[in-house]
Amino acid sequence: MAESLPELTEQLKSSLELHYSPEIATKAVELYKRSGEEYKVYIVGCLILTLTASVKPEYTLLSRRKSNLLQSQLYSIEQASELAESGLYLDDQPRPQQQHRLVCFHCSAKIPHQSGSLSAHRQASPGCYFVRFFDFIKSMGSADPSFTESVIRDIGRYVKALRKLKTDLCSQGMAIAMTYGFDNKLLTFCTARHFMRNSGRVPDRAGDLIQLVHSIQPLFHESVPLTVDILALLEPLKLLPGRPESSGYHSVVVGQYDRLSGSMQSRVHSLTHAQLQAIQSVLTSNPSASGAPPGQS
Ligand SMILES: [Zn+2]
Repeated sequence: MAESLPELTEQLKSSLELHYSPEIATKAVELYKRSGEEYKVYIVGCLILTLTASVKPEYTLLSRRKSNLLQSQLYSIEQASELAESGLYLDDQPRPQQQHRLVCFHCSAKIPHQSGSLSAHRQASPGCYFVRFFDFIKSMGSADPSFTESVIRDIGRYVKALRKLKTDLCSQGMAIAMTYGFDNKLLTFCTARHFMRNSGRVPDRAGDLIQLVHSIQPLFHESVPLTVDILALLEPLKLLPGRPESSGYHSVVVGQYDRLSGSMQSRVHSLTHAQLQAIQSVLTSNPSASGAPPGQS
């Protein structure tokens, strides 16, 4: 059943609040509402990936990371909030002779507890999707254009992956498994985790899908799979095939803010047709984005 845009954005917001932070949730939803398909794909893709594929699923919830940090009595409330919002919790069982370490719930990067911060997390694990999404959303209000090449590449990957996931979640096996009385959100969440952690593979048989729920559900706090309706988030996305690399590349001059010199620099990018369309859609929906980041008013 298709959900209305307000219902969908409300759901997106509450899920991001529970796992990222209220600030990230507000900014991401603002961007989602005003942007074209590409950013919607990016936001939905990052949310589904970071939640379902986490290496330490028991700390997916922001509140669990925060209470873990406070229990250690090593941090003030403000420090615990900041670390938890950076995706970190405290490894409470260090090996003998070892210092406590902060761990990312998504990528499991480990950081000495004294030097814990988002920048330490970023340095230890630059590819972490939690950090990348955090940085992307945070930069929406700054003068730093965030439509970077890595985001463009991620959008291309998400289009392919989410298209397959959407198809797999509507398979006959899934339809049969749903008749066994599981909450649909739980079944799709567990299936998405298997998909994300097994190179996009999903079991065909209903019995195997039910087995997935039994093995995956206990890894998460019980509320987590129910906070995100993956099928509802995927439903409005077109995820069109046939706009990929095969259509050739376009050379485009893009102005980018250079952090070192503090000025705008022109760079030539080699973009696929899909990437070019993505940029064009941003410029159309937000004319000021030609010199400022998408999403900035
Ligand atoms: Zn991480």
